[in-house]
Amino acid sequence: MSLPLLPGRECGGCVECCRVIPLNLPELAKPTGQLCAYCVDGAGCGVHAIRPQTCRTWFCLWRVVELSDDWRPDRCRIVVRPDGIEDGVITLFVVRRSDFLASLELFGVVAGWLAEGIEVALSVPGPVGTYPARAVVTEWLRPAVEAGDPEDFARRVIQSLDRLEQHDWQSDGITARYAVEEHPFTPPEP
Ligand code: SF4
Ligand code: SF4
Repeated sequence: MSLPLLPGRECGGCVECCRVIPLNLPELAKPTGQLCAYCVDGAGCGVHAIRPQTCRTWFCLWRVVELSDDWRPDRCRIVVRPDGIEDGVITLFVVRRSDFLASLELFGVVAGWLAEGIEVALSVPGPVGTYPARAVVTEWLRPAVEAGDPEDFARRVIQSLDRLEQHDWQSDGITARYAVEEHPFTPPEP
């Protein structure tokens, strides 16, 4: 999916999608949760000019919608996933737990989404090479939002994550294969 990006917003030092997104392409296969071997710590993609098309078109919603800088995934530890957005569902993929889960920023933004009729899902990664767990939690979070109670909201988020982490993880069946440089590719854009 390709969504219009916010002008002036850059990934900076974030490389979360190079870890969380599974790829199973002829030139690059990477199990879910495995940091891509082409990813250079602190510098981003080491094969940027010839990176696969999937990498060119997949962006988290922090690159697409107006969320504060606190929401950059490597800061808040949440990747706001684009899949599901056409159906009115925003998925908060909690890569790692952090204080952000108890922040007024998260509470306020989710409250705004619920007020707009947007559904919210929470998702957590499993072991490397397995599909993540995900559940729509709109109605579970709603009482805390309607009561204006951020502490209860944070408790409900944590309880949801606890439950998701008991998931029966399923293998994604992907074997790592790194061959971008050997594969024929479309010349980089000018
Ligand atoms: S090829 Fe580059 S952009 Fe794609 S996952 Fe690897 S490091 Fe990230
Ligand atoms: S997760 Fe979002 S901000 Fe981070 S590298 Fe990917 S697209 Fe950029």
